[in-house]
Formats: sequence, C-alpha cells, structure tokens
Amino acid sequence: MTGRTPSPTSTEPLTFLSRREFLRLCSFMTAVLALPARYGTRVAAALGAAAVSGRPTVIWLEFQDCAGDTESFLRSSHPTAAELLFDLLSLDYHEVLMAPAGQAAARSLAEAMERTPYLVVVEGSIPTADGGVYCTVGGRTAVQTLTEVAHGAAAILAVGTCAAFGGLPAAAPDPTEAVGVRDVVGDRPLVNLPGCPVNAVNLAATLVHHLTFGEPPALDELGRPLFAYGSLVHDHCPRRGHFDSGRFVREWGDEGHRRGWCLYRMGCKGPAAHSNCPLVGWNDNTSWPIGAGHPCLACTEPRFWDASAPFYRWMGEEHLPMRRAREREGEGIGVALGVGGAAVAAGVGAAALVHQRRRARRGADTSLPQGGAT
Ligand code: SF4
Repeated sequence: MTGRTPSPTSTEPLTFLSRREFLRLCSFMTAVLALPARYGTRVAAALGAAAVSGRPTVIWLEFQDCAGDTESFLRSSHPTAAELLFDLLSLDYHEVLMAPAGQAAARSLAEAMERTPYLVVVEGSIPTADGGVYCTVGGRTAVQTLTEVAHGAAAILAVGTCAAFGGLPAAAPDPTEAVGVRDVVGDRPLVNLPGCPVNAVNLAATLVHHLTFGEPPALDELGRPLFAYGSLVHDHCPRRGHFDSGRFVREWGDEGHRRGWCLYRMGCKGPAAHSNCPLVGWNDNTSWPIGAGHPCLACTEPRFWDASAPFYRWMGEEHLPMRRAREREGEGIGVALGVGGAAVAAGVGAAALVHQRRRARRGADTSLPQGGAT
C-alpha cells in the first residue's frame, strides 16, 4: 500500500479514507470496543502513529475452512474496516489473496516470518488424525505450519468458529479429529473470534485495540473478547419484548413471523449465544440473521453444529417467560431469564470445551438443551 503518510498528531487521513471518514471510523471502533468516547482521539492518534512507524506484518493462515472469514473481512464496505487495516497493517502472506504460488509462496512465508514479532490470523480448523495429513500446504501439515509460525507471533487471532473451536470439521463423526488453534499452540497469546463467519467489525476492533494499546482486549474464559462476546444475543435482541410478552412465531410465514415476533419456538438459540450481533449487525449494520427473520444458531459457541442441530428445534419450555414466572414466584422475569441464559451458555462453553473431541466422536448432542417439536 502506498499513499500519503499520516501524521500521528493531526490524524491526517490514510490512503483509502478521507479525514472525516477516518475520524468517524475511529469513533465507531471506540464504541465497538466499549471504550469511553474520549478514547476516540487516542485511537486515532495511535492508528496514525502505527502507519508512520511501520506497518506490522500480518501472516494469514488458512487450514480446514471455506474462506468465509476472508470473504466476510473483504466484503465490508464504506469506509471499510478492511481498508483501514490494509493501510495500517502489512498483509504479507495470505494464500487466497497473494499473487505468488508454489515455491514463491513458500518463500513469501519464510520472508514474512523474519519480520518478528508479527501478527498471525488463523482461519479454519487443524486436523490431527493420522499425523495431520488431511491438511497439508507445500508438503507441511497444518500442525507443523501453525506451530512454526506461532513461534514468532506477538499475538494470534483465531477467526471463525473453525479456528476457535474446531467448527464444522470437528462435528461428528469428526473424521480428521479437527481442533481449534488453542489445542495446538495454547501457550501463545491467543484471541478467539468465533462466528460462522467472524464479524469483520469484531476482527477490525481487536486489531485496532492491539495497535492502540499493544495488547489484546479483555477476554472471557474461552479467549473471546468481552466487548464482542460479553453478552448474550438474547440480551439486546430487538424481539426481546415479544419474548417477554409471550408473542412467538409458531410457523414460518405466519402472522407473528410477518410482524417480527420472537423466534424462540422456531429454534432460536439466542438465549445461549454470546455475541454482539444485535448491536453491530452485518453488512454495515443493514441487517443480521434475526433481523431477517431467521433464528440465531449460536454459531459463536463451542460445538456449534453438534450442539445447535437440529437448527429449527427449540430449546424447550424452561426458558419461556410465563413458565419461569410461575416457577420462580417473586423473581423478575428478566433476571430469571438472564441468569438462566447465562448458565446455559456457560455450561455450553465450559463443558463443551473440555469434552469437545470426545463427545464429537461419540456423536453426542447434549450441550444445548433441546425441546420437542413446537
Ligand atoms: Fe431474540 Fe431469539 Fe431471544 Fe427471541 S429467543 S428474543 S428471537 S434472541
């Protein structure tokens, strides 16, 4: 990337962005990171300084994946998080985007690894069965490449649920014994950014936090940034009022569906899914799955697929507000639901992480509570 060099003190616009767009994006990133508004100028100054002092090298590795996280990152638009970061970071190795191939690509990786410390982004799960032979690039297995590249990393970002927790490749019967990054290089600084795919806004905000403060944001017990995964989808869902009032969609296309009622009975896993989807949305916040009338599938949680399927089966009566109100006489419905949802989600996270591989091989399907047909 070439262009004008920004001044760290004047927040001169970067190559792709006007000054107004740059400052607006810094304010947006500050809000996504849940920082006080006064941090906006600090973020702007830090990003300007990063561009002046030399852009950090980024090595983007792809293993067992569909490239959906790359697509998600590249498809954001106006003024784009991707554009901002292409100005601030040097994406020196990315198999989908780079021009070199074959031996030239291998040389590009070797040269990038000489620029320590660098940032590593990992997309896709890592197969471990049969010596890891089910994903090899340039004759080296994913385990070998990741272990080697992780050694010089200042931080590793596992983007998408496959890289974070194994994702689809780890679903039963898990023929490749796929795992997430933490299971291979758990001793390295790691941030998990699950989602199917990762939300580009959260990836950008995590990188902005690293550039601004020199460290990753605060994380939960599964290594996910709290700014993005610290609350449940259910907590901020615009259909929550319908849930609390007992107004549920009961059939696709029925009157409730047309009027935007709650999708819980249609299989929504929002009460057990940690994500800021309702707050940042997708496609420049034009919409998101629930906004488009589709249930949340809890794609940010461990064992997504095994635990969430069948996707359109509901989680059972125990979360329904009237039943909770009856069972917990005297408790506020909102409080009861919040605790219940958090407990379910915590159970999903902790238990699933510990037993992920074993359960996947057994084809178990018990992490998310399952109800009967509506
Ligand atoms: Fe929204 Fe789903 Fe919760 Fe209903 S159950 S309020 S659709 S997150």
